[in-house]
Amino acid sequence: MSRIFSSVLIANRGEIACRVIRTAKRMGLRTIAVYSSADAKAPHVRLADEAHHIGPPPAAESYLRADRIIEVAQASRAAAIHPGYGFLSENAEFAEACAEAGIIFVGPPASAIRAMGLKDAAKALVEKAGVAVVPGYHGPRQEPDFLRQKAYETGYPVLIKAIAGGGGKGMRRVERQQDFDAALASAQREAMSAFGDPRVLIEKYIPSPRHIEMQVFADAHGHVLHLFERDCSLQRRHQKVIEEAPAPGMTPEVRRAMGEAAVEAARVAGYIGAGTVEFIADGRGALRADGFYFMEMNTRLQVEHPVTEAITGLDLVEWQLRVAAGDALPFDQEDLVIDGHAVEARLYAEDPEKGFLPSTGKLIALKLPTGEGVRIDSGVAEGDEVTPFYDPMIAKIIAHGVSREQALEQLSGALTSTIVAGPKCNLAFLKALVDADEFREGAVDTGFIERNLENLGAVPQPADTQAIAAGTAQLLRMEYERSNPSLIVRGRLGSHEWLFDPWSARKGFELAGRRHTVVPVATENGRANVDLFFDEGGPRLLAPGEEAEGWPDVEWNATLRLAELGDGNGAVVRGVDKVFVIRNGRQTSVALVDPLDVDLEHLDGDAGGQITSPMHGKLVALLVNEGDEVAKGQLLAVVEAMKMEHALTAPVAGVVSEVLARVGEQVGEGARLLTVVAHEQG
Ligand code: ADP
Repeated sequence: MSRIFSSVLIANRGEIACRVIRTAKRMGLRTIAVYSSADAKAPHVRLADEAHHIGPPPAAESYLRADRIIEVAQASRAAAIHPGYGFLSENAEFAEACAEAGIIFVGPPASAIRAMGLKDAAKALVEKAGVAVVPGYHGPRQEPDFLRQKAYETGYPVLIKAIAGGGGKGMRRVERQQDFDAALASAQREAMSAFGDPRVLIEKYIPSPRHIEMQVFADAHGHVLHLFERDCSLQRRHQKVIEEAPAPGMTPEVRRAMGEAAVEAARVAGYIGAGTVEFIADGRGALRADGFYFMEMNTRLQVEHPVTEAITGLDLVEWQLRVAAGDALPFDQEDLVIDGHAVEARLYAEDPEKGFLPSTGKLIALKLPTGEGVRIDSGVAEGDEVTPFYDPMIAKIIAHGVSREQALEQLSGALTSTIVAGPKCNLAFLKALVDADEFREGAVDTGFIERNLENLGAVPQPADTQAIAAGTAQLLRMEYERSNPSLIVRGRLGSHEWLFDPWSARKGFELAGRRHTVVPVATENGRANVDLFFDEGGPRLLAPGEEAEGWPDVEWNATLRLAELGDGNGAVVRGVDKVFVIRNGRQTSVALVDPLDVDLEHLDGDAGGQITSPMHGKLVALLVNEGDEVAKGQLLAVVEAMKMEHALTAPVAGVVSEVLARVGEQVGEGARLLTVVAHEQG
């Protein structure tokens, strides 16, 4: 074994930077972090031996600044650069620039990145090597008429894919010929803005598709092998949500065929290091050795690599570093065996009830699970900010068990004991997924989530009234602790202001007897009223909408109130001017409001005719004009943010009464874009 270099710069942030730093430190390397202004206090900065500022928050001015990063690497005498995933990890020019600067790039040769960089060229390359690819068109011609013809020949449904694509961007599924042109235009627009390249290819849409990928590893001495497969079929909009290894229903025969195809793909690309060959499998029955097709190769470490580490016992980052230093892989294909089963869930700061919009802000509380068989890779800690600049991942939660069943049980338990307060997160959604019967049975395809959004709680839910009551109790306690009980009584109990003392029992009630007051609160779902009663038994709270049978028998104390919520999965977390109640992985924020402060926005909410931008972004398409008749659900406009397009549809059937924004304009979160006046209900 050669002597490994002595230092490494990690050109990344978040969980993957932390994860790489950990292994590098264990191997005795000096670790050098880089950070943008938004990440000055981020965990990866704290964890590394040294850290250097590289620019302002936008990635284009910091984590994507190849020149700046190489400068820092030279100044800090870094022997190598590990790019993580995303950012510069699949950038061939960056790999070359590292080499020119005399720095080892921990990744494949630039030529291999290029060979696999564009989906069309990659497909052509592996096809020549005898690997099956999805039927369709992946040639140079791009005229809409020609592509429409190719789509027709391929047979609908088809998938339009950006050849430079990644992360599901620039991809559109088309069911019918008449929808082709619009889908093509939209895919090209998204591809242009995300990758600066509008070119696309056409693929047959594989029915009941399962995404199964092979982890490959190659060294510079001609050894290429695979570390088995991962099943990443649980996806939303082509982005992975839960990944596992091995794949349910995988047989030794199919694994051998897929492994050989993956190794072959890596070989023809001249690959060195860790890579992933993605296949799409026809999931309409059992997996077949002739029922999967090459989609693309990712020339880097994947987000989901921990499940492979769990079942192989290997540290992939360690082997990336060793291979980059020139070591040969010391094992052969036959030496590798699968140990049990592993599953990973991606915990994101996003709101499943609002179309999975990224959610930002300070993590007021973050309690990640621990325990036997559970691994956490996280890049944020309690008190950190989730900023709008980068991927809003909070953590990856990985469970490893002797069987699939056990791994899923462990993951389910781990999710139950996770608490996130502040930004909204997908915890309840992940839990629903992990517990879904079909998933437990191993019978899912990539459309599972989209078909089951409602069952998975990923649609607007009614307000959690128990949580509102618990939150109100906590707020009143906070008010009391601040010796400011005025809010409790304002305008309601008038002169009785000091007649009660909610926390020290019954004494105040000799005069008053039974009393009732209403505490108005604000939640993310609008206003609610919580009834507060006082009688001989002390103060009691009634959740909004809850019927009082006689006097409500609800405890005052927030903690008790939560204990009564029953499932052991609850917390009340204090924020500055509000509290967050977490119940079954779902967060409800509650704030006291002045009862005299009328909330106009909620009063004139007639049928939601205002179309507002869901987030900061750019208005990239406006499909209606003033005076147009629109049907409910009709596409009205498209806002692009974080390089993803967000479609805005008509909430009701009606007429567009005003258009308030122009295409190309930057729009703020909540900015009014147009108004639809609902047709009279007949
Ligand atoms: P990206 O690089 O943008 O992630 P991929 O080519 O890897 O794009 O595809 C992403 C996902 O889209 C796959 O995991 C799969 O769910 C789906 N997909 C891709 N190609 C097909 C296809 N031909 N038929 C059905 N689904 C597909």
